[in-house]
Amino acid sequence: MLTAALAAAAAGQSPSGPAWTRGAVCYEIFVRSFFDSDGDGIGDLNGLIRKLGYVDSLGASCIWLMPVAQSPSYHGYDVSDYYRVAPAYGTNADFKRLVAEAHRRRIKVLVDMVLNHTSNENPWFQAALKDTTSPYRSWYRFSPTALGKGPWGAEAWHHSPVRDEYYYGVFWSGMPDLNYETPAVQQQAMKIATFWLREMGVDGFRLDAVPYLLEEGSCLAGCPGTHAFLRAYAAHIRGPPYRWSPFLSNHDQTRTMTTLGGDVACAKLAATLLLTLPGLPFVYYGEEIGMTGDKPDERLRTPMQWSPRPGVGFTNGTPWEAAQPDSMTVNVALEHSDPVSLLNLYRRLIHLRKENGALGTGTLVALDASSSRVAAYLRRTGAQAVLVVANLSDSAVSGVSIGSTGQSVLRAGTYAARNLLGGPDGAMLAVGPDGRLTGYVPVPGPIGSRESLVLDLVRR
Ligand code: CA
Repeated sequence: MLTAALAAAAAGQSPSGPAWTRGAVCYEIFVRSFFDSDGDGIGDLNGLIRKLGYVDSLGASCIWLMPVAQSPSYHGYDVSDYYRVAPAYGTNADFKRLVAEAHRRRIKVLVDMVLNHTSNENPWFQAALKDTTSPYRSWYRFSPTALGKGPWGAEAWHHSPVRDEYYYGVFWSGMPDLNYETPAVQQQAMKIATFWLREMGVDGFRLDAVPYLLEEGSCLAGCPGTHAFLRAYAAHIRGPPYRWSPFLSNHDQTRTMTTLGGDVACAKLAATLLLTLPGLPFVYYGEEIGMTGDKPDERLRTPMQWSPRPGVGFTNGTPWEAAQPDSMTVNVALEHSDPVSLLNLYRRLIHLRKENGALGTGTLVALDASSSRVAAYLRRTGAQAVLVVANLSDSAVSGVSIGSTGQSVLRAGTYAARNLLGGPDGAMLAVGPDGRLTGYVPVPGPIGSRESLVLDLVRR
């Protein structure tokens, strides 16, 4: 099963992306919860600028900002003005300064782009709602009757507050869907992308809710027209887009540490797998310190826990949302000074991924382990190879041997196995003329529960 999963991951890896993505890890930030510079309890762009040093020390090569455009909601996924930064976050000038400061540290900036729908307060929707002859009328979908449920069975047609008719909004009434069958809507989406790329200086986008862009008859998600539009959109931006982006959790999902029931060893294992497998991994802010949180959404997006004091080092005022109850014991300040903390493991792995070509861009080769409780794989380039052996189980496993089921995986020779995570090195590895790995026992003793070996194979 595990081998099949790894093979699927290998098949999905993209051979190349933009140069900056090689060995890179991205960090997802909710600006509202990251750092508040002016004491109003709401994180802002100037606060984020002040914390870029932390992002840099983590080793992240890029940041993905959840929506920053003007919106009536706390989360920003319903945009009322695509050309203006939310006033609580700052100004367009502040945003440009953020981009400049990030670029000075060689950190790329991606922003969430909400294509599928607008806010119901967006002037385009207000015009369409109030005036049936408005040019914006065709930007949304109206109907005299409710035409059925959305793709996951929820009500998707909402009664107009103005007249006896309905409009389509797949998520809720406050988020009317744009109608991508209207050419002007597609043109506007391109224009917005151009504005953020050229005027604001961003390096790319995370596209929100893309399966729902076009509805075609009974098809409500992932329809052919959506794919056609996304191809045109990618060509407009700077085709081909890079899209193999694994992550443990994001702003819509239960935080990893909560899913794992507070098990730090499991969290370290999950981080090690994420950051040694292919792709452009994304780390959700706070995941690197083991922040907890579960639904409702606001509790997945609580203030970043910087230090054990009132306001958790996030604000001098009253935070817009209360921090998690464990914030006095789980925070950046405490973990920074603990060499075996989750934070310092993330830092180490993210930096390794950037420095080690095999971890950064190497091909994934799934290997067989003698125990089904152990995952083993190689990341390999022409010149470098890293072997990962991870005990996924809740007990130690002894005498684990690794093999490559008949395939040639390494050049013949003798390899030293240097431990990249700071523990004891692995045993010497001898590879015969057939290039196969057979019966390799990396460590003579047991591999502990949830323990991972990340071994740099150096040919002698
Ligand atoms: Ca603020």
